[in-house]
Amino acid sequence: MLTDREARQQIIQITNELFVTGHLTATGGNVSATSSDGETLWITPSGMYKGHLTEEVLVHIQPDGTAIEGDQKPSIEFKMHFGAYRARPGSTGAVHTHSPIATAFGICNQRFDPINTDAVFLADTETVPWFMPGSQELAGAVEGALGKSRGCILQNHGLMAVGKDLRKAATRAMLIEETAKIQLYMKQFGGEVSLVPDEWVKQLAKYADFM
Ligand SMILES: [Zn+2]
Repeated sequence: MLTDREARQQIIQITNELFVTGHLTATGGNVSATSSDGETLWITPSGMYKGHLTEEVLVHIQPDGTAIEGDQKPSIEFKMHFGAYRARPGSTGAVHTHSPIATAFGICNQRFDPINTDAVFLADTETVPWFMPGSQELAGAVEGALGKSRGCILQNHGLMAVGKDLRKAATRAMLIEETAKIQLYMKQFGGEVSLVPDEWVKQLAKYADFM
């Protein structure tokens, strides 16, 4: 369980990292962490430039989006964040990014082939079809996909990842983007593709929890 102070600090740290590494756009994407009561969330505000958020603009919200603390409007994706924590009990952090290559990967209905160890661990990543951002339909579909894997791609939109802590959630989002990037490079090279052999895919599966 996080203290409220830790939750706010972690959100700012991770938001800054995701922004400088190109996973958040000027206003796109959002980050949350569980509060000290374990039932409400701290989340980034809606519509504000993501490049220099401070703890003061974060919003502490109830499941219906009502603000407990904070003057800003909470992210419109708060339903999707609550859905992520419901899908993965015990999680304390979730990130929604607009990672460009993973987004294009989803639009083109790609799947992770066993091209390296990360791709083997990400093989259960689902692509959720288009639903209106901020909608209950999107939140429900993401909750279902995150029940099967800690990360999922949102078609025509971005991706969502959840973790035991915010660092793990962000790591998942970064690995999805980096692995999608390798598959993109592969397609550009063309030529014969060599995958991780089947017997190793099975061996590696037991280490999937490490990420
Ligand atoms: Zn979004």
